[in-house]
Amino acid sequence: MDLHRLTIHEAADLLRRRETSSQELTRACLDRIAAVDPAVRAFVTVCADGALQQAGEADRRITNGEATPLTGIPAAIKDNMCTRGVRTTCSSRMLEGFVPPYNATVVQSLSDAGMVMLGKANMDEFAMGSSTEHSAFFPSRNPWDRARVPGGSSGGSCVAVAADEAIYSLGSDTGGSIRQPAGFCSVVGFKPTYGRVSRFGLVAFASSLDQIGPITKDVTDCALVMNAICGYDPGDSTSLNQPTPDYTRSLVPDLKGLRLGVPQEYAVAGMQPGVESAFKAAVRRLAELGAEIEWGAFLPHTRYALAAYYIIAPSEASANLARYDGVKYGFSAPEASSMWDALEKTKQAGFGAEVKRRIMLGTYALSAGYYDAYYLKAQKVRTLIRQEFDRAFARFDALITPTSPTVPFKIGEKMDDPVQMYLSDICTLPVNIAGIPAVSVPAGFVDGLPVGLQAIGKPLGEETLLRIAFAYEQSTDWHKRKTPL
Ligand code: GLN
Repeated sequence: MDLHRLTIHEAADLLRRRETSSQELTRACLDRIAAVDPAVRAFVTVCADGALQQAGEADRRITNGEATPLTGIPAAIKDNMCTRGVRTTCSSRMLEGFVPPYNATVVQSLSDAGMVMLGKANMDEFAMGSSTEHSAFFPSRNPWDRARVPGGSSGGSCVAVAADEAIYSLGSDTGGSIRQPAGFCSVVGFKPTYGRVSRFGLVAFASSLDQIGPITKDVTDCALVMNAICGYDPGDSTSLNQPTPDYTRSLVPDLKGLRLGVPQEYAVAGMQPGVESAFKAAVRRLAELGAEIEWGAFLPHTRYALAAYYIIAPSEASANLARYDGVKYGFSAPEASSMWDALEKTKQAGFGAEVKRRIMLGTYALSAGYYDAYYLKAQKVRTLIRQEFDRAFARFDALITPTSPTVPFKIGEKMDDPVQMYLSDICTLPVNIAGIPAVSVPAGFVDGLPVGLQAIGKPLGEETLLRIAFAYEQSTDWHKRKTPL
């Protein structure tokens, strides 16, 4: 049996019945990484010895009857979450040699649940990008077509799962970075409500938007990981003090009684016809499953979301990235003649072009004289977008959109045109602006390339989204298709 191809729930069944061991499962994943990672490059760091040791501990725990559904299951962690003793680079030269002395809360929660950590996944530098081409080390490749991007910024995390290198992974989503690559790689990606998952130990990009979430092979696995990572953390001042439900209870295969809105504003110019027809077919399927569907215009300010995002996110990034001054940790330029010279040289050599672009955009938007015209105005647009979602959710249980207007694009295609790259997140980033949850599930293929379906929910509406995602998934076989690798 190809153990690396299993889902969490399938693997956990075998482990419970002692038909395999975590060590066998972990070896199968490490062998798979050795075989296919040179072709797709999902990992920045592979922790073979640590993983096998954790697998041994998990096997003892299983024998003692102390297993959780995640005990002994191998995972990949996006390289912007701190892992004690394991290099955490953010795919940046700036943090190339940074070894955190502590675990992010999510990493600790998964370790407590018995995770086997295979390694750290490649990403766009500091999570800025939509293709993983902005990694300072190397681009990751889409396992469905290696000439194409896997999406980003959690590209490595999604490739690792789609290529069956890891059974599941964690990503982070500031403007679509879990959902867009999940759609491009045909896996499930969930961005929870802002504050639902602790960000303690997540390297900050845009603090009012960042959120961590699971990337999995199916919706059942998504619920299992959510059960382990959601919940209050006093270490994160934005963490919501709310009880965590058992998300597996939302996995029911019908949608009777649910009202779903399909906002016309997401039928953006530039949407590929193949994506549009796959999307329409998916909406018809939701209706067949018992949902009441209404097409209409509910979100008129969506067209300003991208502009507002590219003021707010870079502004926060420019503040967050000021800490990389080469003094306390991270890269430090040698041979500087003064403190200012050291600072300049460190940032010049430590950051890549996209990160520098964001810092300059943000510093400009926040500077005296421009603050009101840009940053304050963007915050006002943000309020309008939020209110508009609130009004829509007075009528609907969830909203349904494509995850991205296109299928995965070719490597290099958008590298010289940042605005084209930014447009890849047009359907996902309004969700971060409003702080609400959303999920992307596999919804078909156009000429062999994946398409994702996005469901957007009200604040703390994770359960409804899992129900929609599960019912849809169970009525299709998209999630069972395997990459040609
Ligand atoms: N692609 C968007 C950006 O470049 C979103 C990134 C993210 O969600 N981390 O900012």
